[in-house]
Amino acid sequence: MAEFDRVLVTGGSGYIASFCIAQLLREGASVVTTVRSRTREADVRQAIAKLADADGRLEVRVADLNGDDGWWDACAGCSGVLHVASPIPSESPKNDDELVRPARDGALRVLKAARDAGVRRVVMTSSSAAVCYGHGGRSKPYTEADWSDPRDRTDSSAYERSKMIAERAAWDWHAREGGALELVTICPGAVIGPVLGRDFSASVEIVRSLLRTSMPGLPRFGWPLVDVRDIADLHIRALRSLNAASQRFIGAGDFYWLQDVGRALRERTPELAGRVPTRRLPSWLVRLSALRNPAVRARMYELNKLRPVSAEKAKRELGWAPRSNDDAIADTARSLSAEGLL
Ligand code: NAP
Repeated sequence: MAEFDRVLVTGGSGYIASFCIAQLLREGASVVTTVRSRTREADVRQAIAKLADADGRLEVRVADLNGDDGWWDACAGCSGVLHVASPIPSESPKNDDELVRPARDGALRVLKAARDAGVRRVVMTSSSAAVCYGHGGRSKPYTEADWSDPRDRTDSSAYERSKMIAERAAWDWHAREGGALELVTICPGAVIGPVLGRDFSASVEIVRSLLRTSMPGLPRFGWPLVDVRDIADLHIRALRSLNAASQRFIGAGDFYWLQDVGRALRERTPELAGRVPTRRLPSWLVRLSALRNPAVRARMYELNKLRPVSAEKAKRELGWAPRSNDDAIADTARSLSAEGLL
């Protein structure tokens, strides 16, 4: 295990970043984080305080993935970087560049700044979006050897394409110009888990929308799920493990259809799950509702697509031991309720 006593975590206002920062602080490290605007600093400090005592060890800097300013300063003096920031929109933009530019060019900015500042290792948050899209569904689990194909625009949205393009660009740059800098990428499934307030990631809507739905049934959409606390832990294992350099790690549990999420909610949090539908909506009805509902239309590439992934490599090589999907779903529901978000 390598020691990293000062670590930059990009995008401190984000869901996954908050849990990474908190774990690093709890383990005794000093943390630098970035926000796009100084006005977010108080929110970030407040969110982190719910999870860990910063005790003067959290610095907040300003940097935007769309510009060069601030990245070198943020990296200076850090031995490790968790590059977590990247846009996750609640609605897909018309033009891919709105997401691809900050995701890809922003990652390259962070990597170059890290190399120039003498950082030892960058762990970059990629996604299962960079592993299992562009090939349709399949029952055989995808592994780290698989790459999504951004050319098939019928099997991904701008968000998935931004993640696959950004991770490819990072590895290509690293091979050409990385020098002594080490790179590791983490490919999480859909991240759920306890929320720290109103500012949670779009992926938490997988659970929240079921608890609030007025629909009579559930469309056959599904994802491999993972708890935010476990994905933060995987980032930090990837930072510290000597053998992790130059590798990708998938971080996800079982693939769950929305009906599986509904079953877990009814079994584990029956007091909150009274409205959760039990029936599956027939695909013809989902297609019909897509004609009128832009949000459903934007997700149609996911309909009936089974995309299981294998996290065996992270378990075997990094000793990662994530909780079950059902535990993660139950904790998500309870925290949404406790925060008054249902
Ligand atoms: P999130 O809560 O929406 O966080 C995204 C973070 O990126 C925010 O801090 C956001 O800052 C920052 N950001 C966006 N555009 C930026 C820009 N132009 N310049 C600087 N910062 C920018 O989402 P999350 O779930 O924590 O996601 C974090 C990472 O995990 C992303 O790389 C995402 O692709 C990846 N990931 C997420 C999931 C998931 O299911 N949530 C799954 C796989 C991978 P603002 O607060 O200012 O917007």
